[in-house]
Amino acid sequence: METPMTEVISAVIDGAIISAGEAPVSIINPANDSLIVDLPEAGADTVDRAVQAARRSFDEGVWRTMPVDKRQAVLRRCADAIESNADELAGIESANTGIPFSQLRNRSVLRAADNFRFFADYIGQSVGELYEQNPDYLTMVRREPVGVAALISPWNSPIALGSMKIASSIAFGNSCVLKPSEQAPLGISKLATLMTGAGVPDGVVNLINGRGATTGDQLVRHPDIDVVTFTGGTHTGRLIMKAAGENLKPATVELGGKSANIIFDDADFDQAVDGALLGIFTNNGQQCLAGSRILVQRGIAARFIEAFIARAKAIRVGDPLDAATELGPLVSQRHLQHVMSFVPDANLAGHRILTGGHRAPGFDKGCYFEPTVVQVDSNDSRICQEEIFGPFAALMIFDTDEEAYALANASRFGLVSYVWSQNIGRIMEAQERIAAGIVWCNTPMMRELRAPFGGYKESGVGSDGGKACEAFYTRQKTVTIPR
Ligand code: NAD
Repeated sequence: METPMTEVISAVIDGAIISAGEAPVSIINPANDSLIVDLPEAGADTVDRAVQAARRSFDEGVWRTMPVDKRQAVLRRCADAIESNADELAGIESANTGIPFSQLRNRSVLRAADNFRFFADYIGQSVGELYEQNPDYLTMVRREPVGVAALISPWNSPIALGSMKIASSIAFGNSCVLKPSEQAPLGISKLATLMTGAGVPDGVVNLINGRGATTGDQLVRHPDIDVVTFTGGTHTGRLIMKAAGENLKPATVELGGKSANIIFDDADFDQAVDGALLGIFTNNGQQCLAGSRILVQRGIAARFIEAFIARAKAIRVGDPLDAATELGPLVSQRHLQHVMSFVPDANLAGHRILTGGHRAPGFDKGCYFEPTVVQVDSNDSRICQEEIFGPFAALMIFDTDEEAYALANASRFGLVSYVWSQNIGRIMEAQERIAAGIVWCNTPMMRELRAPFGGYKESGVGSDGGKACEAFYTRQKTVTIPR
């Protein structure tokens, strides 16, 4: 597939593309280090215009007062528009991020369409409360949209995560301003341009491109926004919560992970190997929910390591736009340097590089890194405690179930955990003992959009998902009237 064309989009405001802006951000193709486009940054004036457009659309009320069945129809048309443009969206995002086209086309872009359909269905079933205890009065509790939502998203899955934020905020009648990552803005910017054609009124979905410390910070601190939702790194999450808190704005922050993937000796062996591979190598390993600490019980450890390493070595590393590619380049040279900085730690006493540890061979250019697995003796090592965010797994052997839970929980993160066992009693014990917001048992990455998705500890505050989003993007009003 050829590298797709991209438009110069600094912002999308009131449905119109704005190309001019301030200090441009160079968007580089991580497969060959070439410049895709220079994107002018949305400066303070543009940020203000975007927020004012959202505010105006909210105050005018065309969207928030639209009958639910009509709003549902628009949301469903957004999903249709995403599906009709799926190849282009996946191609643009693949060239920008290095994530294999096939994974984007078959997973992220379809997920984006699902996000819109899910929230279209959800708002059709949303109910208020009514209290009739007092014979003289009726009390009802209504939910109203909060107003203007500031949405800030990361680079590792821009279309899937950005669309989740757009769909969940606007479904309840809000208007929004999205600032995607300056590293990977192209796919989600394209998606924002599809909203008007699908019937979303002008000003309801606005997008601004630019750096976090400038455009992002200006958005979060803008006095006319009502809530902030952020997905990204833990360090940035702290800054966002602080900035939002200063203006008394509610914020959800969905942050990093260092998820344990526990494989008990009674697991379905083939399923566990497949799941562990998907858990760490999908999306080039750049996933908050990556199963990056693989804990294997001693009885099956030798067999597991042999099978897992053979499969890791067989992963097809290549051009992300090639349909056969399973692992593309990392998002940038800077990120490649970050991932490679863990290799010296892997050479420490007690650690053993089972495979990988180098730039992938055969590529003169680009940010390619080999699938890498390191067997470690201590969970205290940097490899086990920091988010590497690449195709880089730490593997540890444990003896007892107690040891597995202790290792899984010895982390400042608590986003996801994976458990593999055919004993239901063990599974139930494990899900109770593990301190993580999501526990996937005998299944890799099965997302149920009605259920909350959010982490414990430093993996975040707040969640995505049906009820969680309704609670965040609406406020409750208690109304009492005489009978
Ligand atoms: P990041 O924190 O560097 O950036 C995320 C976004 O915040 C970007 O749009 C950036 O421009 C913006 N930003 C940066 N500084 C800002 C500031 N001061 N004010 C406002 N905005 C600012 O994260 P990243 O490197 O883009 O993404 C990777 C991280 O995201 C990883 O830690 C990963 O685990 C996490 N993540 C979490 C989830 C989840 O659901 N928990 C999902 C995906 C990614």
